[in-house]
Amino acid sequence: MVEFPKPVPREGELLIKVSACGVCHTEIDEIEGRTPPPVYPMIPGHQVVGIVEQTLGTKTNIRVGDRVGVAWIYSACGTCEYCLSGRENLCADFRATGRDVNGGYAEYMVVPEQFAYPIPELFTDAEAAPLLCAGAIGYRSLSLCDMTDGKSIGLTGFGASAHLVQKLINYQYQQSKVYVFARSQKERDFALELGAYWAGDTSDMPPVLLDCIIDTTPVWEPIVRAMECLKPGGRLVINAIQKESIDQDYLLKIDYSRHLWMEKEIKSVANVTSHDVREFIRLAAEMPFKPEVEVYLFEKANEAILDIKQRRIKGAKVLVF
Ligand SMILES: [Zn+2]
Ligand SMILES: [Zn+2]
Repeated sequence: MVEFPKPVPREGELLIKVSACGVCHTEIDEIEGRTPPPVYPMIPGHQVVGIVEQTLGTKTNIRVGDRVGVAWIYSACGTCEYCLSGRENLCADFRATGRDVNGGYAEYMVVPEQFAYPIPELFTDAEAAPLLCAGAIGYRSLSLCDMTDGKSIGLTGFGASAHLVQKLINYQYQQSKVYVFARSQKERDFALELGAYWAGDTSDMPPVLLDCIIDTTPVWEPIVRAMECLKPGGRLVINAIQKESIDQDYLLKIDYSRHLWMEKEIKSVANVTSHDVREFIRLAAEMPFKPEVEVYLFEKANEAILDIKQRRIKGAKVLVF
């Protein structure tokens, strides 16, 4: 714990007094150097909920005293071809909260007003935090699947983001069957409980070929396996900032005719847009969906991160002040 000066908002920014901040697996990637900050020290944390304490020359209707959230997208240039076509997540000047700019593991942070989102009253501070990362990225992964009601969809890995996606599918695509691939029996049981139609090991073949699969695992074998489970024209969406290198040689097992032929596609998910965050918050309030959270005092941040690293996971972890 160190003392930092209270940040000062610049034109168009809000000063937020932080009340809760989610703890994400990405923090471990930042700390261990797989997606490192450009400078140190950097305050991590990209699922921030707090109260606006000061504004400077802002144009939106966010006011002092409002409760807002901040997500992984901290800012983008606003003028490039990607920003102008609703793909600010691909902007070359994309800056991530808590990696490129100080985030929410602190009492205060500042953020450009267009990247702060009003939080519906329905959620407590701690409940709102996970909506801002796992929720928004889950929403983006699903929107990259080219889904329509009735299409079959697979989920490889069944952690925080996948379980949110399962709930979104239940809500938005009621005719679609969900097939879950997970190594642990506990995760498979959980998936079936939440409404999955089928659950198997990552090495099992599903009873039918699938239109789309979302991968949320940290490794490579499930990618190759998933390609075999796709229908002609099917798409695999990989939701990961980085893959670990432990089983990278599994990629040599890719067989063109079995895994790629017939116009099968692979697409990665990069970051989120402010639209994704807004849409997911709106949907979560409408469903309504409340994430299960495990709360840690702010002082216990290191403990919470270690618990994620060692997979002691019971719902999303959130630091509170
Ligand atoms: Zn995250
Ligand atoms: Zn841009």
